[in-house]
Amino acid sequence: METLNPFAIAQEQFDHASRYILGLPGGMMDSLKHPRRVVTVEFPIEMDDGTVRTFIGYRVLHNQARGPGKGGIRFHPEVTEDEVRALASWMTWKCAVLDVPFGGAKGGVICDPKAMSEGVRRRITRRYVTELGDAIGPATDVPAPDVNTDERTMAWIYDTYAMLHPGQNNLPVVTGKPLDMGGSWGRREATARGVLTVTRHALAQGVAPGLSGIRGSRIAIQGFGNVGGIAARLFVEAGAHVVAVSDSSGGIMAPDGLDLAAVERHKRETGSVVGVTDTTTISNDELLEVPCDILIPAALECQIRASNAPRIATQLVVEAANGPTTPAADRILFARGIPVLPDILANAGGVTVSYFEWVQNFENEQWDLDDVNRRLRRRMERATDAVIAKQQELNSVMPKIEGALDATPTEQPVDATPLEPADLRTAAYVLAISRVANVTLERGVWP
Ligand code: NAD
Repeated sequence: METLNPFAIAQEQFDHASRYILGLPGGMMDSLKHPRRVVTVEFPIEMDDGTVRTFIGYRVLHNQARGPGKGGIRFHPEVTEDEVRALASWMTWKCAVLDVPFGGAKGGVICDPKAMSEGVRRRITRRYVTELGDAIGPATDVPAPDVNTDERTMAWIYDTYAMLHPGQNNLPVVTGKPLDMGGSWGRREATARGVLTVTRHALAQGVAPGLSGIRGSRIAIQGFGNVGGIAARLFVEAGAHVVAVSDSSGGIMAPDGLDLAAVERHKRETGSVVGVTDTTTISNDELLEVPCDILIPAALECQIRASNAPRIATQLVVEAANGPTTPAADRILFARGIPVLPDILANAGGVTVSYFEWVQNFENEQWDLDDVNRRLRRRMERATDAVIAKQQELNSVMPKIEGALDATPTEQPVDATPLEPADLRTAAYVLAISRVANVTLERGVWP
């Protein structure tokens, strides 16, 4: 049985990639793998019926070598400490792949926001932020939206922090804020826009030999929230046909392409995509196996696993979600010749525009949408090039790496089992770990 624990998966990915990196001091890899700080808070909230309930929240700071921690806050009934640890570590590697000056962090509160009023959600947000105290801050750890949190949640976070820190510019304490209170143009669409940019650019570099571009391609998307819903629209605008989408209630399919306006209307009116006229209802499991050219998981972790990877019927997987593919599934897809554009590259558009928002907040400026999108595209394309180049480099120098078994006693010990050709995730990790390790060594280990 493969593990579905996200932190165990994040560590396995890290360990696998670290075998391709030589010459670091012994113990350095181990130190980069673990989070710097895990904060757990438990707090009471008065519910609408007057009863009091205790909630548990986490904030994990994985690494700060390259800058303040950065990462979203998730509200979900299945949040666990290990999930938040994993998400925080993926943020470290993502920021390093994109070369934005942040470390990695993540937060989560165990709650079911769909079953709670806006008032309860606001009280949870404010109390969680108050309990975190100075664990977050504009120069230490900067939250953002994630599953079930949005601009309004970010506004409450800002307001709570500003109440606790009067008389200073607190805008950079959180990103993904509403436009009229320090938010950035383009932030809401940034993750999905980044997914589109990375896909287009990677296809132009030939990562999926059977697919020359997005125009005319058939897309299946799991998750129809901030990332999946907007990605659907952007891919259609780019000339693709979205043939299947899903949300937590189930999925729908139309082999000739869905009428996206009708899907969006139905989702707005009923809260779900299921039931749009002239579509076939499918389960979420079936969605992942729909024949398509590009499969975009945009919901939660561990969706593509050893059990379904042999039946995935796509030419390319683009990870809009964090951690949707398990290591066993990665190996199966690689063996089947299905490339995976990994989360730490593909969904990095959100943190990239969050970085732009943070910079704008320090300057008290607001950049034009065109300016934001142009800068986003440039950074995403540069990161895509860097990951593809790293994969080519790893796979061409591999025999040399295999021969380099004579590490000095102070160096990281070398595992003698032969290395397999690196996939794109491994390449992205190697790029990211090397960047974080370099800065760590330049700074020196305190004291
Ligand atoms: P969201 O809450 O806006 O949307 C999540 C969507 O997933 C909803 O449509 C929900 O119904 C659906 N969903 C939940 N469980 C599902 C299941 N079992 N099967 C199918 N669909 C399911 O969240 P989001 O911000 O769009 O985040 C989605 C993913 O993208 C997460 O993995 C998140 O970490 C990642 N991500 C988000 C951002 C961002 O800027 N929001 C940035 C990078 C990565």
